Amino acid sequence: MKKIYMSGWTPRDIFVFLLIINLLQALQVKEAAAWSEHPLLVKPALANHPVWRYATAVEAVTLKDFLIRTESELANFLGRQEAWSVTNLPNYKPCPEALMFRATGNPDDILERFYSAIRINPHVKVPLYLHLIPGQESFNRDPADPAAITTLANPGAMLSSRYVWVRAGEMLDPFEVLCTANDEPDYGFDLGLFEDNGTAYGKRYGFGIQPFGNPNLEYSSQAPFHMGFFHEAGILYKFGPFLRETYIDYRIFLYKALSEFAFQQGQPYWGWRFMGWGMHYMGDVSMPYHMKPLPGVSTTRMMWINLKSILGASRARDNAVQIVSNRHTVFEEFQLQVLRKAYQDSENSHPFLLALRDSAGNGAFSYDFLINTAALQSASAAREIDRILKKNVPVRMVSDPKIEVSDLPELEKLMELIPGEMGSEANSRVIRAIARQMRSFSMNIRSFMDSILKNIDPESYSG
Ligand SMILES: [Zn+2]
Repeated sequence: MKKIYMSGWTPRDIFVFLLIINLLQALQVKEAAAWSEHPLLVKPALANHPVWRYATAVEAVTLKDFLIRTESELANFLGRQEAWSVTNLPNYKPCPEALMFRATGNPDDILERFYSAIRINPHVKVPLYLHLIPGQESFNRDPADPAAITTLANPGAMLSSRYVWVRAGEMLDPFEVLCTANDEPDYGFDLGLFEDNGTAYGKRYGFGIQPFGNPNLEYSSQAPFHMGFFHEAGILYKFGPFLRETYIDYRIFLYKALSEFAFQQGQPYWGWRFMGWGMHYMGDVSMPYHMKPLPGVSTTRMMWINLKSILGASRARDNAVQIVSNRHTVFEEFQLQVLRKAYQDSENSHPFLLALRDSAGNGAFSYDFLINTAALQSASAAREIDRILKKNVPVRMVSDPKIEVSDLPELEKLMELIPGEMGSEANSRVIRAIARQMRSFSMNIRSFMDSILKNIDPESYSG
C-alpha cells in the first residue's frame, strides 16, 4: 500500500484526489463551440473601430501561396515563437523537435509542414471564402457548401449560415476577412490532437492524453483548446492537475504572433485572417461555461457528490454533469436564435447588439489581461448565469438530468418557449445575462485586435 503514496501525500490526500479525479474526468463536454456563429457577434462589436477608415482592400492569397512566399522567414519566426511559448506560457507542452517548421523549399508538403508545426488537425480545409451574416449582399458570388469548409462530419449549425467562394487574387474588404476567420477554429482545427483520440497526428503532437471530456466523442476533443479553468479553488488544482491542461492561451498567442508576422511580411490578407483565428479564442473566454468546469456547483458540493459516486452512487455525479451540459446548450442556442432574429428583423437597438457595440472598459491586452481580467470576469459570472437559466428556462430543459436537451425538438423554438412558459420577464432576464457576457466578448476581442495593430506598421494595412 505504502508505495502508491506520492511524495508526502497522506491517505487523506489520496482519498480527496480520487474524489476529484472521479468527477472531473467524467466531464462530458458535448458542446465545445462556446458562442455560436462568431461573425454575428464580431460584426457589431468592431464595425465602428477606427481602423476601418484607413485599412485598404486586401488581395485574397491561398494559404499555400502565403507559406511559399514567406517560407524561410516563417521558419525563423516559428522557432522564436516556440521559444517564447516555452518561457511564457505556464502550462505549455512544447512542440516536439521533429515537428518544427523547416524551410525545405518543397511546395508539395508545405501545408502539412505548417499544420504539424502549429499542431492543428492536418485535414483542415482553409479555402478562400466569405461568411455572410443574415441579410448581407453576396455580390453574385457562388454559394459555398459548408462541407467544403469544415472537417466535421456533421456541419450542424453551419447549414443555417451562408458562405460564398472567393477567388485567389480577388480584392476583399479586410473587415469581411476578419469576421469570416473568427468562426474557423470551430471547423475542426483542434479535433483529434491528443494521444488517445485515435488519430496518427494526435500521437505525434505532444499534448498527451485528453485531460477531460470523452476522447471518443468527435467534437469533445477540441474542448481543452477552447476552454480554460484559471480560477478554481486551490484544492482542485492540487488534486486535479489536469484542470490546468488547457491550451486556449497557446492558440491566442500563436495566432496573434502569426498575424503580426503576416502583416510584417506584406501579407495583409493573412494578417487579418490569423487575427480572426486568435480572436475566436478570445471570444470563447467570455463564455462562462468555458471558464468553469461545473458552473453552479460549489467545490464542497463537487466533493460530496463525488464521495457518493465513489461509494457506488454515481447518479448524483452524472446528473450534475448532464444538467451543466444542458444549460450550456441552452445558453448557446438562445444566443444564436435571438441574435439571428435581431439581424433578420433589422432590430438595431436589440440589447445584444447594443451590448456588443459598447466598447467601454477596454483593457490593454497581455497575458495578465487574459487571465485576470477576461477569464476572471467570465468565471465569476458563471454561477449567476447558471442560476438565471435554472430559474427562467422551462425545467425540463435545464434541470432534468434524464433529458439530453439537444435531442428535444422544441430546442429550436427556445425563444418562444422562454416567454411562453415563464412570462416575458423571464426572457428579458436571460437576455440581460447573456448581453453582459457579450459586452465582455466585445471588450476582449477589441483589446486583442488593438494589441496587434499597435505592434505593426500602419503602412502594412493601409495602402
Ligand atoms: Zn471555440
